[in-house]
Parts: sequence; C-alpha cells; structure tokens
Amino acid sequence: MCGIFGIFDHPEASNLTYLGLYALQHRGQESAGIVSSDGKCLHHYRQMGLVSEIFTRDTLKKLTGKSAIGHVRYSTAGSSELKNAQPFEVDYAKGGMAIAHNGNLTNASLIRSELESSGSIFQSNMDTEVIIHLIARSKEKTFAERTIRALKQVEGAYSLLFLTEKEMVAVRDPYGFRPLVLGQLKDAPVVASETCALDLIGAQFLREIEPGELLLIDRDGTQSFKPFLQTRYAQCIFEFIYFARPDSFIFNRNVYEVRKSLGVQLAKESPADVEMVVPIPDSGFPATMGYATESKIPLELGMIRNHYVGRTFIEPEQSIRHFGVKIKLNPVKGLMKGKRIVTVDDSIVRATTSRKINKMFRNAGAKEVHVRISSPPITHSCFFGIDTPKKSELIASSHSLKEIQRYIGASSLRYLSLEGLRSCMKEEADRFCYACFSGDYYLPCALET
Ligand code: 5GP
Ligand code: MG
Repeated sequence: MCGIFGIFDHPEASNLTYLGLYALQHRGQESAGIVSSDGKCLHHYRQMGLVSEIFTRDTLKKLTGKSAIGHVRYSTAGSSELKNAQPFEVDYAKGGMAIAHNGNLTNASLIRSELESSGSIFQSNMDTEVIIHLIARSKEKTFAERTIRALKQVEGAYSLLFLTEKEMVAVRDPYGFRPLVLGQLKDAPVVASETCALDLIGAQFLREIEPGELLLIDRDGTQSFKPFLQTRYAQCIFEFIYFARPDSFIFNRNVYEVRKSLGVQLAKESPADVEMVVPIPDSGFPATMGYATESKIPLELGMIRNHYVGRTFIEPEQSIRHFGVKIKLNPVKGLMKGKRIVTVDDSIVRATTSRKINKMFRNAGAKEVHVRISSPPITHSCFFGIDTPKKSELIASSHSLKEIQRYIGASSLRYLSLEGLRSCMKEEADRFCYACFSGDYYLPCALET
C-alpha cells in the first residue's frame, strides 16, 4: 500500500508533486516524501506523518528544480520509521538516484542476503533498497539499461518511479499488480498511482502504463520499452474492492462504477427481506448504492462517520473499551428502531470492526441486522502490497460463514461469490489476481506466513 507521483520538466514540480500526494493520501498515511531534481543534483525531504503535516511553504521551496517524484507510505515491508520513508535517495558512482515504490517484492530477502554476503551495506529494511543496490552494481551504460538489468532479477509487485538528475523512469511489473497511469500537464509528463492525482492538478489523462512497460522520460521526450518476459496479468482486485479512490480510473475502469456493480451483483446473489439498506462509511458507499438500486429497498445513511479523527487520537486505557470505532462511527438513533436492516460493507478482514458496528446498530434499536459484503471471504495473505495481516488473523481463513456470522452478531451474513466478482470484471476477469480469496498466487511467495 503506497502511492507514487512524478512530474518531469515543469517549473512548479515540487508544488505539483505535493498536490499529487495529497490526492493519493488514502494510499498511505505513515510517511511521505518528495525528491526533486534541478538538473545538477537531487534535493529531498521526507518525514513521518500526513502530507498536510509534513510539507510547508519553506520545505517545498527548498525542493528546487523542474522535476520531482513523491511517495506516500503504508508499510507492507519494513517497519514504520523514518529510515524507511520514501522516496529513497542515494549517491552512487554514476550520480544521484531516487526511487519511489508501490508494491512488494517477493524475493527481496533472498537477494538482500546475497548482496550482504558480498559486502553490501543496507540503510533501511525496505525491500525497495535491493533495487538500488542492483542498479548501482550494474555495468550497463545508461540508467534505463541499468534499471532493466536490476528489475530482471527481482520478483513480485512493483509500480516504480525513479528520478536522476536528468531523467525520470516509470515502470510497472509484468503482472501489473499495482496501477500506474500516465498524464500530461501542458507539455510536462506526469505519472501517478491513480488518476485522482491527475485530476487535482488539472493534468490530462493519457493512458495507463502497461504491465511490463518501462517509460524513459527525459528532455528528448518519452520512450516506451517492453524489456521483460510477458506473463499473465495479475492486477490487484482489491484495488477495485477497497483500496483505490472511487473517482479514479485504473485497470481500464472507473473504480466507483466497478464497486457499484459489485453491489448490484451482491443484491442479485443475496437479497435480504428488510426495510432499509445502510452503507458502512466510507468504503461501503458505492457497493451499497448498487445493492439498494438493484433490490429497490430504500437507502438510509444510518451510520455517520466523523471525518476529523486524526492519527493523534489517544485511546482511553481502561474505562471505555472499544473506543476506536465509536469515535469514528455513530448510528443515527431512532431511524432504525424496531426495523430490519441490511448493512453493506466492502470487506471483512479481522471482523473486529463489523462486530462493533453491529452491536451499535442493535443498541440503536435495530431488530434484525443482516450483513452483506461486496467481496468474497479473505482467506489468504497478500504478498503483493496490500496490508492484509497474517493468515491466522484473517477470520475467514479459519472460521466458517456461520461462525463469523455469530462472532459479528449478524442476523445473517453473505459474501459476494468469487464467480460473481469475476463476472463484474467482464471479459477482463482473467487479468486480475484473486489470491486473497482463492490462494492462487501465480508466482512463488518467499514471504509465506
Ligand atoms: P475488519 O474489522 O474486518 O478487520 O475490517 C473491515 C473494515 O476495514 C472494512 O470496513 C474495510 O473497508 C476496511 N479495510 C479493508 N481492508 C483494509 C486494509 O487493508 N486497511 C484498512 N485500514 N482497512 C481495511
Ligand atoms: Mg471500511
């Protein structure tokens, strides 16, 4: 889970990167950073925290130059501390280079121990750092060639942005696990994880960067390379289900439209005899729209979210337990008194949220609380950049539907079927990775938990 953004040859490169990261904040809230290039050297600023907390007018002013890349981070490999914040920047024999990575390498620890045994010293515990070492060791002549040589040795999920003094390079792994789009602001090429970042800065969306494609962007223009062996696509279905912003266009579809279709399919598969449909904010909204439209049951905003819950919230220690969900969500009392309701959410991971939410609905007077989930049960961990916990913490990996229903206190519980999910992807169904629901990983996972 991370977001990346880059812009080449624009007088306001750092300011625009800051805005781009703002639009991608949902992809990672732990740390953020920007590296800029003034043509002669690189400048960087990275901190723990949200984009709005980290950057000031002054810090942005110091990030001089006409090209910049940025990163927002949610750690999936490496711990949450400043030394692991990105973009990662180094000086090596050929000059400076910075890298911003969204994804997760599956053979990084193997490569790392090989490199360490031959003398390499690592500064972080990020999987991303191995790419830098491999590039620095490569004997190829150009940066693009060194990058290709390095990436041919790594496996897993990577959407990447590199910045050197003179060029920006964008790459998407051959499986296409994570999204990456290309846009343009006046004449300046822009690359971002999602189109919502292009929208914010007024850039035009050109196209997606294709799985296995490398773009070399420099003063001479943009060149496309396809240096990797072609393989099946394995775009992350969870980007559509939960992770990406609904207003974005990725993987050839609008995220909102996909989520709504999941809700329609869910209503077809698992109707409920109830008086109202209630979305679980905010991630459950689009699927709920689909569910309500298809079932023709009235939609009510029965659960309200406080949008000002910051990361600085201090949970009271003893007196009030389970405070976390309550400060974020509160049901509309009176609305559901004596009523049969169905709630729609996008996913169940550990089931702790769902359990607390259902209790709140009951306390608010609901007579029956039916739960519908617009994705199949998550039974397997992700090794490609989504922060699903260890398999043992995924409730559906070890509990039956009935057990989960009982645990979350629902009158009934139904998930979207895997077939139903695939049908919403239409003719592109085989281009996605469903491993978190099926266990079919398509490539060996060195990180087995
Ligand atoms: P649970 O209580 O089952 O662990 O959490 C389910 C809720 O978390 C759902 O409302 C879903 O939108 C949200 N969710 C799903 N995946 C993730 C994730 O990877 N990270 C975070 N922070 N929330 C998630
Ligand atoms: Mg949610």
